[in-house]
Amino acid sequence: EPEPARCLDITDLSKRFGGVYAVRGVTLRCMAGEILGLIGPNGAGKSTLINLITGTLSPDSGMVTLDGQPMTGLSAPQCARAGVGRTFQNIRLFAHLTIRQNVEVAHTTALRHRAAGRALHDVDDLLGRMGLRGLADRMATTLPYGLQRRLEIARALALAPGYLLLDEPAAGMNDVESEHLVELIRQIRNDFGCGVLVIEHDLRFIRRVCERVAVLHMGEILTIGGPDEVLSDPRVIEVYIGG
Ligand code: ADP
Ligand code: MG
Repeated sequence: EPEPARCLDITDLSKRFGGVYAVRGVTLRCMAGEILGLIGPNGAGKSTLINLITGTLSPDSGMVTLDGQPMTGLSAPQCARAGVGRTFQNIRLFAHLTIRQNVEVAHTTALRHRAAGRALHDVDDLLGRMGLRGLADRMATTLPYGLQRRLEIARALALAPGYLLLDEPAAGMNDVESEHLVELIRQIRNDFGCGVLVIEHDLRFIRRVCERVAVLHMGEILTIGGPDEVLSDPRVIEVYIGG
């Protein structure tokens, strides 16, 4: 029985580093249970936006809510427990723990802080779905890169997120692994009912997995819409080619 899907609302979010805006006035409604792509050239502010949504960074102004519940002002662990799950552009696993232990840490946290009525996923089931069950007792960092990325997703799912934010999950994957990831993301959405916001450089990947795509350029939303429409938009092609 999947959780009721929840929407993630980002309202007029801004963040400056020094005097320079990394994210400027971003308003974005991530709908319940949708797979939404976030693209844009290097330095556009994509990772900063995810860091602001997940409490890794605090915004200068603006607001984030998950199904109406404010996330702004919460720490990263508080955001995670409140239902905003994430992976990192630069993989962050517990290097001294096994694959199973990496997921168990999150699962134990989720058990301790479980909101009434929120079902949790079984650790072995999560490992199985990610193709990691047979490797569960190996140290996390001995895994090839593509599997480390899947382990990060398993760990995020152990917290039963309402929204899952993936920062370049296909980076460093070969074509076969990346194709498998497309299927996995769809399955996660369908089986767990969570929405997925995915940052990815590989536009073919974005086109295959996303129902809508938002384009970030110099910290601002340039456009948002269906993948075909957005990826053929001359303004989008211009920022990719023009840099
Ligand atoms: P993207 O993920 O789209 O490549 P980032 O969000 O990483 O972009 O970066 C957006 C802008 O903010 C860049 O100009 C980057 O140099 C700057 N930036 C990001 N993080 C920091 C930070 N911690 N301190 C200073 N500047 C930062
Ligand atoms: Mg980034």
